[in-house]
Order: sequence, then structure tokens, then C-alpha cells
Amino acid sequence: MRAFGARHPLARAAAGAEPDWKTAEKHLTHLIELITGQTALAQPDATGTVRRAENGAVQLLVTLDTVANYRCPICVKRRRDPL
Ligand SMILES: [Zn+2]
Repeated sequence: MRAFGARHPLARAAAGAEPDWKTAEKHLTHLIELITGQTALAQPDATGTVRRAENGAVQLLVTLDTVANYRCPICVKRRRDPL
């Protein structure tokens, strides 16, 4: 998940800044919960299905990481919303 961390530089202005791993991890977890949550609600008894959805979510995020100009949807949302 190195690339996902790179979407979250500590100082946005400084080039080559260290990634903000805490924020990156928080957003990653939240995204997986968002994707998996839909499956968990639809099939509350299907533990295996939820686990597969979780794996799918991780794969999706890994794939999105390879897309140029991909931005973390949570960061995009946060930037639009007033704090
Ligand atoms: Zn983010």
C-alpha cells in the first residue's frame, strides 16, 4: 500500500514529503468498511461472503492505486466539505 500512502503527503506544499501513513491507513480502513459494509448489510449471516468482499475491496484499492491522478475519495470528499 505504498502508493496509497503517497496520496497522503504530510505537507501538501513540500515535494517529496513523507507520506501521512496515519491518515492513509485511516482512509484505507474506512474505504474497505464502506465497500464491505454494503455486503454485510445485504447478507448478515454470510461470513465468507463478507470476507470475500473485504478481499475484493483491498484488490480494488490496490488497482485504483495504479491509476494516474487517482485521488483518495475520502480526501476529495473532506476537501469539498467545510470543516
Ligand atoms: Zn485519503
